[in-house]
Amino acid sequence: MSGRVHSYETMGALDGPGLRLVVFLQGCPLRCRYCHNPDTWATDAGQEISVGEIVHRMQRLRPYFGRRGGLTLSGGEPLQQPEFCRDILLACRRLGVHSALDTSGGVWDETCREIVDLADLIILDIKATDPTAWQALTGRDAFAALADLLAHLRSTSHPVWVRQVVAEGLNDQPEDMLKLLDTVSGLRLERLELLPYHDLGRSKWERLGLQYAAHDLKPPRPEVLAALRKIIAVNWPTATDPKTAG
Ligand code: SF4
Repeated sequence: MSGRVHSYETMGALDGPGLRLVVFLQGCPLRCRYCHNPDTWATDAGQEISVGEIVHRMQRLRPYFGRRGGLTLSGGEPLQQPEFCRDILLACRRLGVHSALDTSGGVWDETCREIVDLADLIILDIKATDPTAWQALTGRDAFAALADLLAHLRSTSHPVWVRQVVAEGLNDQPEDMLKLLDTVSGLRLERLELLPYHDLGRSKWERLGLQYAAHDLKPPRPEVLAALRKIIAVNWPTATDPKTAG
């Protein structure tokens, strides 16, 4: 089995616990206005890589993983290449390596359900908390897929890290955080991270001949972001945001 890989991060410290091999898979069905990796969208770009080659890379890095580290499948949207994901996650299981799947929740079917169950941790990027806002941000009418994934994660008590990009005027109000907390209620939530919007991906859009779609968005003001993190901490004290911890 092989699939298309956009790139790797060999000592990733953000996408899951410990140090990790992060494999960014090619292909994404969403078109998020603020996407900083539009070069991951095309399903036929990137490099064709075998599961064996990924396992080989993982084994070389394994001494650095320690007790907590492992492999993270990210993208793009990894669930866009379901069989490839499944075989990589099965290899992690076989070798006893911790695995994480970083998804936007915009794809869902029976195969996705099987793949999600194979991952030790789900990192879920919740773009928005209602169908209209979600579609306006992602360009796709697929909020039902996220709702199905959330229902499945609740029923299985899978460990989950939730992330949301916060932008001024988009979702930087206290009520937005309360809606986010409501959306993730019932999950086995280990972290809830608020990531300030940035436009570092703008040059990639231009290089691809695309018009940047988030020119009206701004990073949240630091004091606003701090207040939003406080709302999260007060209402869900067990959800750790490392950016507020230190
Ligand atoms: S899900 Fe991620 S990769 Fe896909 S468009 Fe959105 S930000 Fe970009």
